[in-house]
Amino acid sequence: MQRIVSISFGEIALKGLNRSYFEKKLLNQIKRSIKGLGESKVYRDQGKIYVITDDENIERIVEKLKKVFGIVYISPGYRVEKDIEKMIEKAIESVKQTIAHKEVRTFKVQVKRADKKFPIKSMDVARKIGAAILREIKVLKVDVNNPDLLVKVDIRDYCYIYTDKIKGYGGLPVGTNGRALLLLSGGIDSPVAGFMIAKRGVSIDAVHFHSYPFTSERAEEKVKKLAGLLSEYCGNMKLYSVNILPIQREINEKCPEDEMTIISRRFMMRIAERIAEKEGIDALITGESLGQVASQTIKSLNVTNSVVKRPVFRPLIGMDKVEITEIAMDIGTYETSILPYEDCCTVFLPKHPVTRPKLEDIEKSEASLDVENLVEDAIRKMKIIEINFQENAE
Ligand code: ATP
Ligand code: MG
Repeated sequence: MQRIVSISFGEIALKGLNRSYFEKKLLNQIKRSIKGLGESKVYRDQGKIYVITDDENIERIVEKLKKVFGIVYISPGYRVEKDIEKMIEKAIESVKQTIAHKEVRTFKVQVKRADKKFPIKSMDVARKIGAAILREIKVLKVDVNNPDLLVKVDIRDYCYIYTDKIKGYGGLPVGTNGRALLLLSGGIDSPVAGFMIAKRGVSIDAVHFHSYPFTSERAEEKVKKLAGLLSEYCGNMKLYSVNILPIQREINEKCPEDEMTIISRRFMMRIAERIAEKEGIDALITGESLGQVASQTIKSLNVTNSVVKRPVFRPLIGMDKVEITEIAMDIGTYETSILPYEDCCTVFLPKHPVTRPKLEDIEKSEASLDVENLVEDAIRKMKIIEINFQENAE
């Protein structure tokens, strides 16, 4: 049977942006996300977007739409002709469906008549539909103040009927706000950081550093999986996979042991920025959170930050691990992030990493390294993996 999903997007989010540009991008993102899920049709009508689908696909479509940034609410429902008998019939059917899987004792019918040419006034439509529901489903009662179930009837070009409203993430459609390069480790934090920046409409690519053969191929698979999970929110992306082992070896040989982590972090930033420069990407993203580990003190952040010119977005900077973990669980990256494959940072891990590094000291240590050549060499040998969102559709 034909079903409909109504999509609301925040008016506030449109401020300062060109509205039709925003809507068009959102429409494209919606089409992209539900591609392959049956015969669906997507259209705009007076500030809302609708997807026509069927019983078989509606649940999967709603799941996909939850991952499209820019959407504030998703309401699965029915579309009918503007004929009061048909409206009543669908409203009853919709309520029956809902009470089959949800405990409902009371309800209220709420009617919005955007089409003033429709001859019956909102109050009267509500009364007629309400009475019919009471007649048909004897266990239900009306409660206008605090109903268990709200039956929404929206009269526009067609009449739309909903009994459910699901929250989206809001934000802005991906592709409306430039591009950034995510430093994606295998941990819990960086995928969340990427998610949060993508939510602001930013297109994302990712760079991962590994120490193969010290780190395994399974560690790489894990990062590909994480990138794939992220791509469900931010679309196709490139994953730049860089072997940082030769650099770590050099640092290990020529620099003080306790500076290992901070100096390799500086190399990661340099390499990321070099890739960004080549690809025309304007910002970097990391999953750093203030004080979480030695390399994330203010002093350390300053020392790593000072090798790059582009802004580095750190959306998790003020968040606790618990809050970050909650988001990771919610967006579906947590289970993959906790797989126990080793990170490149654990190779040559110093016993006591510096927590208050001084920039001059670090620069002095780095003077014994051929920084430029090491960076260029790592980039020359890097692998580029295309992460295609469609491949991850369950
Ligand atoms: P995460 O959970 O994201 O791994 P973390 O708590 O382990 O973070 P660090 O290891 O200090 O923290 O890393 C801080 C940030 O540096 C990461 O969030 C990520 O953005 C970047 N980073 C660290 N290791 C790598 C790596 N191997 N490849 C790419 N980026 C990395
Ligand atoms: Mg990590």
